[in-house]
Amino acid sequence: MKTYAIATIPGDGIGKEVVPAGRQVLEAIADSSSGFRFAFENFDWGGDYYRQHGVMMPADGLDSLRHKDAILFGSAGDPDIPDHITLWGLRLKICQGFDQYANVRPTRILPGIDAPLKRCKPEDLNWVIVRENSEGEYSGVGGRVHQGHPIEAATDVTMMTRAGVERVMRFAFKLAQSRPRKLLTVITKSNAQRHAMVMWDEIALQISKEFPDVTWDKEIVDAATARMVNRPATLDTLVATNLHADILSDLAAALAGSLGIAPTGNIDPERRYPSMFEPIHGSAFDIMGKGLANPVGTFWSCVMLLEHLGEFDAAQRLMGAIEQVTANPTLHTGDLGGKATTAQVTQAVCNLLGTAEQRLAA
Ligand code: NAD
Ligand code: MN
Repeated sequence: MKTYAIATIPGDGIGKEVVPAGRQVLEAIADSSSGFRFAFENFDWGGDYYRQHGVMMPADGLDSLRHKDAILFGSAGDPDIPDHITLWGLRLKICQGFDQYANVRPTRILPGIDAPLKRCKPEDLNWVIVRENSEGEYSGVGGRVHQGHPIEAATDVTMMTRAGVERVMRFAFKLAQSRPRKLLTVITKSNAQRHAMVMWDEIALQISKEFPDVTWDKEIVDAATARMVNRPATLDTLVATNLHADILSDLAAALAGSLGIAPTGNIDPERRYPSMFEPIHGSAFDIMGKGLANPVGTFWSCVMLLEHLGEFDAAQRLMGAIEQVTANPTLHTGDLGGKATTAQVTQAVCNLLGTAEQRLAA
């Protein structure tokens, strides 16, 4: 029997609640499958670790993760530590250290979810956003001079490389090609950003020639927000820079009903390193420690993790269980207007998965 080595990193805030829930669900899906099991190792990195050690994760942290098959992550962000320290010290260290250059964010309106767009039928909104995840606006290139003086200046330089843009474009075209509509929208801003984004557009055109069966168009990022709201059915797969996709994918999550549902995968498509799966929400300081967090974003991230491992049957079964649970309003958490707890939603998903014996008997 195959054993997959999975690292769990709950991090901060509700990450400490939803990641154990995700692990419980992964254990249930392994129990109800005959082909594989999981070996979990948990890492207590994050804000508490920072208070004790002065760093978010140990210097050799990446080495403890390097040989895992996948990573399940919660959230980095602590009320008492500046966000740029928690983000750069943990999540970005892993994303960049393992060159997880494609951030993949599927968005759908799940059964039973009351989404805010009144004229949008659930089947009109079925998107995957591919976010460039290794450079661009978040490359970390820049600096500050004359700190504290009136002439203080600061820069964050957008760094785009031909290799970096080519590989994420190729990934996005390939993903679009694998979906039924074979439709890709390249998000740009080459009207105003006249160097890096012009190269981005040129490379999109170049890579498109490798995928003659994919229909593609370009959309300026600000116009894309309006199109997502007014004409959602005209979109399928999208590719955008690190910053643009960061913003568009939060909008996408909100249009699908709640931030608490949305999943993401930080993927190394070449599989040189483990890929990392996480809900897109943060630490949710307002509800942390109360058992009220919606674990569905984490469960859907577990579906992506299973797909990445090639366990498509298990992935499909887990997604089915998630959709049965969202379809039941008594199992909605507070973000969806319900009263259910993290534990109740988790138990409901596990019950639906059953055990291998139950599945064979059924
Ligand atoms: P947030 O996602 O933590 O919370 C925004 C709102 O959504 C809150 O009202 C919260 O209660 C609600 N919410 C989010 N997830 C939920 C869930 N699963 N169930 C129910 N309600 C949910 O965003 P924020 O408030 O902007 O950020 C808080 C902290 O998290 C900050 O430190 C930020 O830097 C960090 N953060 C980390 C990540 C990450 O690690 N990937 C992502 C976003 C924010
Ligand atoms: Mn974000």
